[in-house]
Amino acid sequence: MCQEPLARPIFATSHFIRDPLHDLHQFSDVAMHWSCYAAWPEQARFAALYFDSIASAAIENELWPVVHRSSKVLVRYGVLVQELSVLLRATGSDLRVPENEWEDWLNDRWREQVRHSLEETALRDALGELRQIG
Ligand SMILES: [Zn+2]
Repeated sequence: MCQEPLARPIFATSHFIRDPLHDLHQFSDVAMHWSCYAAWPEQARFAALYFDSIASAAIENELWPVVHRSSKVLVRYGVLVQELSVLLRATGSDLRVPENEWEDWLNDRWREQVRHSLEETALRDALGELRQIG
């Protein structure tokens, strides 16, 4: 991406694209500035690929059972850490919320956690269905 030193907020994924011939392979374990990530022409496609990769692997993870899944968001519950992971398909980013703060977070504390307007838009779009999760 750009040549500026990495400073927060940073977006990064695990090395989830194993195929070295995939055109986005080189980006699948690279950290980038949120601002660079948001402006990247491949951002939406990359985010969806990452989301789908996590969502399909999540089925087998007993420590992070899936609480909710839709075309917009994947919510998992961390059994050991007692927090929720909210992974947004539009951004491929995840927000972690302690279980006992979930209601406050849904009300307005989520605003403190969003890292970029792209993430804010994606989260706003998913809030309605997140509030339906018991
Ligand atoms: Zn950058």
